[in-house]
Amino acid sequence: MKAFLQHMTSLTGQRDHALLDAALIAALEEVTAARGVRKLEVLRVRDEVRLKPSSCQLHVCVECAASECSQESEPLDAELAAAVRHQHQSSAQKTTPDGDRILWLLVWLDGCFSACLELRNPVVGDSKVLEMAHAFIAIYTNHRNLLDYSQRDSLTNLLNRKTFDQNFSKALRSLARQDATSALPLEERRHPDAGRNQWLAVIDIDHFKNVNDMFGHLYGDEVLLLMANLIRSSFRPQDGLFRFGGEEFVVLLQAAELNDAQRIFERFRSNVEQHHFPQVGQVTVSIGFTHIGLNATPVVILGHADLALYHAKTHGRNQVCYYEALVAAGELKSEVSNDMMEFF
Ligand code: GH3
Ligand code: MG
Ligand code: MG
Repeated sequence: MKAFLQHMTSLTGQRDHALLDAALIAALEEVTAARGVRKLEVLRVRDEVRLKPSSCQLHVCVECAASECSQESEPLDAELAAAVRHQHQSSAQKTTPDGDRILWLLVWLDGCFSACLELRNPVVGDSKVLEMAHAFIAIYTNHRNLLDYSQRDSLTNLLNRKTFDQNFSKALRSLARQDATSALPLEERRHPDAGRNQWLAVIDIDHFKNVNDMFGHLYGDEVLLLMANLIRSSFRPQDGLFRFGGEEFVVLLQAAELNDAQRIFERFRSNVEQHHFPQVGQVTVSIGFTHIGLNATPVVILGHADLALYHAKTHGRNQVCYYEALVAAGELKSEVSNDMMEFF
């Protein structure tokens, strides 16, 4: 009982997804005496369902792109796939050729298979042990839902500014680690293509005040909601998508080359321009983006993207501007001014 309460306190005390996962794994290891517990997140790559170890926080992580995820992810074992097909089955198991017993405890969210806990050689002969393991998973799921709720903007359901602030520095640190890994010889790297480029874009709706003034705030809100949908459909779930405030959005994009990033942001700008917003008609956006340097701080990176956005706004709007290109062309100075630092 004491151990149960301690694990419950630990689970419900976490404010970070990775630590919450670690608390669940610790609880399951202790209660089932398993020799190894892994938490696997469900990843849908096109129509295929795959599993990925949860060390990577997909929704806030800038270190992970769809292609990389699909490389690292693993297919479902036949026994697990059969349990998933039988909706709401709570567990599945198999014995490996080495004689190890694998037990999967399935996590369902809104009727959707969202994750599973994989336990190696658990001691679950007593049904109370299994009940307790499922209870931990239920507490974990409830707490995670609350955590997710507090990280999202209620109008658009995109991640909010607070989440960006909390996670961007963390993501920068993991990028630096990734870079350190890529200094190793190719055969020793975790991902052969580690060291991809990361980009940050600030997106701002053009003349949004006019939308509110001409059609009212309700239509303004509707435009924000539809804009968030366009963002979701134009970028991948693995990219970090944030409503930064008012009618401003931030996207953290992983793309190998500048050309790819430019093309993806330009495609989004064009998607918005061509979209018909009910009653309001055409809406456009201006975008400023910058390369995420390994040693830059969040303040400097955001400052660069904002300067590029400002340039787009003052040079006709409805366009994408790249900070480093503007600096190279002499259109912008390379440093963020002290005023800008103070502003941030
Ligand atoms: P610009 O092209 O220079 O960006 O012009 P703008 O009118 O979009 O510029 P500005 O950033 O000054 O105005 C943003 C407006 O967005 C002001 C505010 O009334 C409106 N706004 C901010 N948050 C919300 C919201 O949640 N709902 C609605 N309907 N309007 C919002
Ligand atoms: Mg604005
Ligand atoms: Mg605006």
